[in-house]
Amino acid sequence: MSILEVKNLVKVYGEVNQVKTKALDGLNLNVNNGELIAIMGPSGSGKTTFLNLISGIDTPSSGEIKISGTSINSMSNEKLAIFRRQKLGFVFQEFNLLDSLSIRENIMLPMILDKKKVKEINRNTDELINLFEINDIKNKYPYNVSGGQQQRTAVCRALVNQPSIVFADEPTGNLDSKSSKNIMEYFGKMNKERNSTFLVVTHEPLAASFCNRVVFIKDGQVHMEIVKKHDRKELFERILDCLAVIGGERYDI
Ligand code: ADP
Repeated sequence: MSILEVKNLVKVYGEVNQVKTKALDGLNLNVNNGELIAIMGPSGSGKTTFLNLISGIDTPSSGEIKISGTSINSMSNEKLAIFRRQKLGFVFQEFNLLDSLSIRENIMLPMILDKKKVKEINRNTDELINLFEINDIKNKYPYNVSGGQQQRTAVCRALVNQPSIVFADEPTGNLDSKSSKNIMEYFGKMNKERNSTFLVVTHEPLAASFCNRVVFIKDGQVHMEIVKKHDRKELFERILDCLAVIGGERYDI
């Protein structure tokens, strides 16, 4: 079943009489339920624009975006805000945790905002705290735990409302390579055990190699894609080959 359907998506920046930039030029993508997919591409290829459009932060010039069968283009702002809160999960490079709340409270927050029952909030939160092995830090505050632990907390917060899909924007960008691997392994674990769907925008081949499919964007279109055949190392090698072909940016390996 399709979770995300993107058809012929176009985004042109620039008002009348200004220089126009076609950031997305007829992009098509289908993401099925239970996929763990990476989006890669050189700087300026349209990744951020794409993420902003599929999360409803910005509106397309033309084209269609459906999430779980619902077209998000035609929704009112109010409806979209509720849809985003209930159906989408977000993970960012900068963790974005609230320093005045404990780790456990940060995770609960989306459910509190959604006025869920206390019993359900406690159950979902504690389940994730156990799965992500952050029981020993749950009463600490974000500034007292490591970057990797903060990002694990942010991933729990993104998952607590059981969204249809989680969008992650450079989720390992602020982490050392050990913590990066660790975060991607948790994505893999949640994907396998709970069939959670993740779309991860990353410029790091290592992070992308933990996914099952890697889509390369260039000049605002899907340029090519590869699917995991064997193990992570084999996918990693093929990602490097694709990046060498696409070019446009130096990648840290
Ligand atoms: P990426 O995230 O892959 O680096 P972006 O989506 O940020 O790519 O950018 C795609 C293209 O759109 C680039 O040419 C960029 O300069 C342009 N662009 C992005 N945001 C804006 C904006 N707000 N106004 C004008 N041009 C923009």
